[in-house]
This record gives sequence, structure tokens and C-alpha cells, in this order.
Amino acid sequence: MRGTQTLAAASTNQHHPLHYVAQHPHMPRNIKTTPSTRYHTQILSPLTPCTPQTNLQKHIHTQITHQSIETLKNNTQLHARPPDIHPPESFLPREDRVHLARLRYGHNPALLTYQKRLDGAITDACPGCNTAPHSIKHIMEDCNTHNHTRQQHNIHSLRVLWESPVQAMTLLRSSGLLGQTA
Ligand SMILES: [Zn+2]
Repeated sequence: MRGTQTLAAASTNQHHPLHYVAQHPHMPRNIKTTPSTRYHTQILSPLTPCTPQTNLQKHIHTQITHQSIETLKNNTQLHARPPDIHPPESFLPREDRVHLARLRYGHNPALLTYQKRLDGAITDACPGCNTAPHSIKHIMEDCNTHNHTRQQHNIHSLRVLWESPVQAMTLLRSSGLLGQTA
């Protein structure tokens, strides 16, 4: 996206230091695409035209972020497109937000299933109930050890990591998974 914005600035402003790159002529032998052809044929053409009222840099940002969001793959833990993250997450300490971001993909060292991915010798059975692998889905939905805490906080689904991150952190702290203090 930043590259597209730079090329857009270079090709539309003749005083831009990279203007010569954006206007680079075709070589007789078409060995490599020039920045100019790549910009016009591969990057700019899929974008919807920019209206005269819209700033080109802003237009490129809007279009490319929209494309990226549209092509996001399913979350590996939910096996579906994740819901939007509830805005109050921004009030949580940075440490908690990092934990949540990693737990949403099952990549948190507090999970034995993740530790086992890094070291096959580690056993990943849940230390609380010993009946299933110690995954974030098991902790948030199934583990008997946390039944009471889940009911206390009205947590029934892994989606709480996105939809109610503050409650999710309260459960994870009181379950001992992440320790008591941030
Ligand atoms: Zn368990």
C-alpha cells in the first residue's frame, strides 16, 4: 500500500524525486516490468477510479485496506471469519491485548497445545481436567475446571475473545492461565 501511494505521488507530481521512475519508458526487450507498468497495469487498474474530490493517497489507503479485509482467511480457532473486536479492548493494558491477540490464533506460550507445536516432547493434555488438549477453545468452552468461572462471567464461546475481551481477560486471569496481575 505504501509503495502504491509513493508511486501515485511520483506519477502525479512532476517535482517528486521519484517522478522519473514513474515515467520510465518501456525498454525494447520486455525483460522486467518497470515500476511504471506494474503500477498502472497491476496495482492501480483493479482499484475503483478516484473521484476528483478524494485525495489519491487516502483513496489508495481505503481501497487496499478494504481489499485486505475482504480477503482475510478464516480464523484458525473459530474456523470462520472472526467477529469485530469490541472497542472497549482499547482500555485494556497493552500486555493483555498482546495476550488476547495471540490467544485468538492459539499462539500463546501459556497454552500447552502451542508449547507442543514448538517442542514435540511436551505433553499437551489440559492440567485442569486431563481429558482434552490444553487449547484456548477447550478453556473457553469445555474445560470442567473453569465451569464456575465461565458461568460467573457469562462466557459460553470462544468468540468472547473478540466480542467481550474485558470479560475474557477476567476469566483468563482468574483461571490462572495468565497469572493474576497485568
Ligand atoms: Zn481441561
